[in-house]
Amino acid sequence: MKNTDQFIGKRVLIVGLAKSGVAAAGLLHRLGAEVVVNDAKPLEGNEEAAIVQALGIEVIGGGHPVALLERNFDVIVKNPGIPYSNPLIEQAMKQGLRIWTEVELAGRISEAPIIAITGSNGKTTTTTLLYHMLNIGKKKPLIAGNIGTVACTVAEKATPDEVIVLEASSFQLAGIEEFKPEIAIFTNLYDAHLDYHGTTAEYLNAKMNVTRNQTTDDYLIYNYDQPAVRMAVETMSAQKIPFSVEGKASDGISADEEWIYWLGERYISTKRIKLPGRHNLENILAATGAAIIKGCEKSAIENVLSSFTGVRHRMQFVRECYGRTIYNDSKATNTLATKSALSSFKQPVILIAGGLERGHSFEELRPYMQNVNAVVAIGETAQRFIDFALTCGVEQTVLATTMDDAVQKAYGASREGDVLLLSPSCASWDQYTSFEIRGDEFIQAVMKL
Ligand code: ADP
Repeated sequence: MKNTDQFIGKRVLIVGLAKSGVAAAGLLHRLGAEVVVNDAKPLEGNEEAAIVQALGIEVIGGGHPVALLERNFDVIVKNPGIPYSNPLIEQAMKQGLRIWTEVELAGRISEAPIIAITGSNGKTTTTTLLYHMLNIGKKKPLIAGNIGTVACTVAEKATPDEVIVLEASSFQLAGIEEFKPEIAIFTNLYDAHLDYHGTTAEYLNAKMNVTRNQTTDDYLIYNYDQPAVRMAVETMSAQKIPFSVEGKASDGISADEEWIYWLGERYISTKRIKLPGRHNLENILAATGAAIIKGCEKSAIENVLSSFTGVRHRMQFVRECYGRTIYNDSKATNTLATKSALSSFKQPVILIAGGLERGHSFEELRPYMQNVNAVVAIGETAQRFIDFALTCGVEQTVLATTMDDAVQKAYGASREGDVLLLSPSCASWDQYTSFEIRGDEFIQAVMKL
């Protein structure tokens, strides 16, 4: 850890517990801050509150009283899930109080350089790819953020010869002040989380925090194919490494049908890549760019590209079964993700879709339904998805109840050479507690085939 005395005697209010709040409270307490924790949940039965209370930290539970601000805190560390419209946070902002997330703490104490990956989609995949490349390349990576351990906990133990690979959401990045990664990756920008950030401009603004404090010593790897991203990064100070799946960006990393190019030179044949989909090619370019900057050998990068078949539940290759190739994309909880999935395949697709009813339209999928030979629909939106599929001219549509039933029916509708894909376009909470459980049930059903 570095600069450990910066928090001595500082009065810090932690708002919102969960894993990151517990971690931040413990860390700041160890570093000599005067910590008070405030959690919406009542204290009774609140296990996370009990953990920090056991350290001797005061916890105020059962709501976020604005009156807490009378205690004159120096800084608030907010759980990323708590919106800025929360009255306590709103008032704190009015008073000009600094409001951080624990990512800011991580950046302040980490002895290891940080690579931060943000964007609307592809964060987990890019983070995982990069982690594997650095690992095989012997660069001692530590994975942190949404995908793994809380960033400030990882940073507390990290040494200068290691490197933190941090998946950073816009919610986390909204609360930084000095955070400055050595390499920032900005995968893409789609309209998302507007309920939290208010407008696209504010959402972009939060994402841009990933590079705002970077200097000419640092690198920014960004999506050249998206004009909004290209424009947004123009005035940033970091050394810019554009990536492009459209074969542009000769000053960065790009790809065409046959090759990945680094600075315009052929680097690795795309034939080596196992992970399907153009969207994944974007993730591959971003991760490869960062791995090259960190000095990984080409062989380490090649090794990962030719063995990595996807993060669990994200276009994850499950198995070949009697000539059918089966993928689990349970993480596809919206149409954008399913669109990416469908555009990954040239073969006919048997699609299992449907889930929680949020009243959202499937219309965005229409241009991508041409390859879909059959739809097996599940969950609350099943009938609506079938109605939509019929208007797209999909020949076979079937309703299913359980995942077992869906997989059986999808297999029944398939022919040799087809892709069998779970990509629901909907959240899982109508039938499952999480998209992970939904994906696991899919895998189990597929293994029984
Ligand atoms: P995140 O961590 O940002 O949510 P993931 O890597 O978990 O992203 O991927 C989530 C879903 O988003 C995947 O199932 C895939 O369908 C889609 N996706 C992944 N990468 C991209 C990309 N670069 N562009 C568009 N969609 C993507």
